[in-house]
Amino acid sequence: MARDGGAVVDILAAAAAAVLLCCFLRPATAMMVDTIRYGPPRGPYRLGAVPPVDLGNTNSCVAGYGGADGESTPMFRLCIPTSVAFTDDGATLVGEAAKNHPAAISGFKRLLGTRFDSPDVRSAAEHLPYKIVDWCTRTHIEVNAGGAAARSMYPSDVASIVIAELKARAEAHLGGEVHNAVVTVPYYFSDGPREAAMNAAAMAGLMTARITGEPPAAAVSHGLHRNKLRDGGNVLVLHVGGGTSDTTVLTYDNAVFEAIASYHDLHLGGDDFDGKLADHFTQLIKHRHGIDIAGDDLAVAKLKAQCERAKKTLTAAGHDTAQVNLHSQLANGVNVSFSGSLTRPQFEELNHDLFQRVISLVEKAMAETKRVPGFDMIDAIVLVGGSTRIPRIRELVKNYFDGKETATATSISSGAVAMAVVVEPDEAVVHGGGLLSHPMEDGYLCMGAGGRRQIGSPMDRCYHEF
Ligand code: ADP
Ligand code: MG
Repeated sequence: MARDGGAVVDILAAAAAAVLLCCFLRPATAMMVDTIRYGPPRGPYRLGAVPPVDLGNTNSCVAGYGGADGESTPMFRLCIPTSVAFTDDGATLVGEAAKNHPAAISGFKRLLGTRFDSPDVRSAAEHLPYKIVDWCTRTHIEVNAGGAAARSMYPSDVASIVIAELKARAEAHLGGEVHNAVVTVPYYFSDGPREAAMNAAAMAGLMTARITGEPPAAAVSHGLHRNKLRDGGNVLVLHVGGGTSDTTVLTYDNAVFEAIASYHDLHLGGDDFDGKLADHFTQLIKHRHGIDIAGDDLAVAKLKAQCERAKKTLTAAGHDTAQVNLHSQLANGVNVSFSGSLTRPQFEELNHDLFQRVISLVEKAMAETKRVPGFDMIDAIVLVGGSTRIPRIRELVKNYFDGKETATATSISSGAVAMAVVVEPDEAVVHGGGLLSHPMEDGYLCMGAGGRRQIGSPMDRCYHEF
């Protein structure tokens, strides 16, 4: 009996030691954030010295002012695929070079700073093509490279590789080093993911000068703060990206955009639309040629890439049909040679349910606004993310708002009412982040710094005065 009790005590002591060791092995997240928060002020402020960094699940962007021909040049914006691959020969690939690699890891923004047992991570585990594991209650990504035993990394470690590449590209463009950044994050990022995003930037050599929300940045990118909105006016920001979608309703008051309703779906976006098309063509290939490509990862990836291309073709005006071709040798030696076509109505039909899920995010956010005292109508709609280019999604949003709850039924374009600047939907966030980092334009780095009027949101945090 006594010996059994002793064994239990030994086991408990060993478990406690393991937990302690485990937690000591964690990168010094808290320490790093303290340095960011309380580190010495940097400055003086120089235009272009603090580029915005928009880390996405599918694509990540950086922007800035200045460059070889001086600070008067317009803002540049650069985006790369959010892909990292660790190859068998020990190389690390990033961006375009990694995107089509069989070992590519992407879509990890949604894992930043998460607990492994959270419902979002449980559902991510079912969708992601790579393995995620529990590391001292936090989510880790398992990486296999060079035939070595699998190791695992924090999502922020992988994200830092993408941010380092953005930093290098911005520096090449600017012809000088940058050490600080404005980091944009979704509204639904709580403290953990925010700190993980800042850590990723810090590991890439960028201290976070300001962290700001993606929806307000998108609203700013369309100039909605420049006397375009009445005080108390409301903006609906709909983001449909590659892997995630979200809707946020912002109320504008005296230069501040405050979120009053928000809904998100971490597994809804362009990748899913491509997946539906790939399933359709996989069935068609089976039916026509009697070949099942479903188990062949390489062939499925090729087919998905073709489907993405066809989807983009159908977005362009004047294109009602797109081609999907697959000429490939499967791993089992069988040759597939397939050519098919996809019409726009077919594309819309195959994705009908997914498009309805996008609209239901809008419906839920709008239902939430009904509980906000004084809310009357939406004044402007801002569409963000590459997938909002899809005509059917625009049409569904327009139908939803037509004649009700909007100031103008014509407020849907690639941005909002009467835009001064045409901003591509996938660059809206980084463009807004750039404006927020430009003291002469619309903002400067810290809310209230220097006692000047500051565009931003109550969720913004600043870590250095400039
Ligand atoms: P993120 O979620 O990383 O912010 P993006 O906003 O860059 O992603 O959106 C990427 C998605 O947008 C991809 O699924 C891509 O296929 C899709 N996309 C880009 N351009 C178009 C287009 N012209 N038509 C349809 N979808 C597009
Ligand atoms: Mg994006």
